[in-house]
Amino acid sequence: MIVASRKPIPELKEVLAKHDKVLFAGCGTCVTVCLSGGEREVGIISSAMRMARRLDGRPIEIEQVTIERQCENEFIQDLAGPAERNEAILSFGCGAGVQAIAERFPGSRSTPRSTRSSSASSKSRRSGRRSAWGAVRACFRSSAASAR
Ligand code: SF4
Repeated sequence: MIVASRKPIPELKEVLAKHDKVLFAGCGTCVTVCLSGGEREVGIISSAMRMARRLDGRPIEIEQVTIERQCENEFIQDLAGPAERNEAILSFGCGAGVQAIAERFPGSRSTPRSTRSSSASSKSRRSGRRSAWGAVRACFRSSAASAR
C-alpha cells in the first residue's frame, strides 16, 4: 500500500494560480486509508482553497470527484466528463495516479504533456493543453503492508 502526505495549501495555491476552474480528483484506495487524498480530504481542501482564493479576490470553481483507483484505466474513465469540463486536474492520488491521469487525458495531440516535478501535468484553456498536478507527496510503500 502507498502512504502519502498532502501538500500544504500555499503550495497548492501556487500550483493552481493560473486556473479558475479545476477538477479535484480523489483516490479511493491507499490515500483514503492514510487520510491524505480520499473523498473527505478532497472536500476539506476544496473548501480551504475556495476560501483562500475568495480572500485573494479571485474565486476558483472546483469540481470534486473521487474514483476507486486512479492507477487503473477502468476507473479513470469516470473522470473523462469532469476532466473535459475543467481547465486543470489536481490529483489526490499518488504519483502513479497522477501519471495515469496525465496519460489518459493528454490534451491536444499537437502539444506535449507538461510535467512539473514527479507528479504533474495541466490544462490551459488558452493553449489547449491539459495538465494534472499532484496534491500529495512523500509517497512510499508502507513497510507494514509490504511485510505481509
Ligand atoms: S493511484 Fe496510487 S494511491 Fe491511488 S490506488 Fe493507485 S497506488 Fe493507491
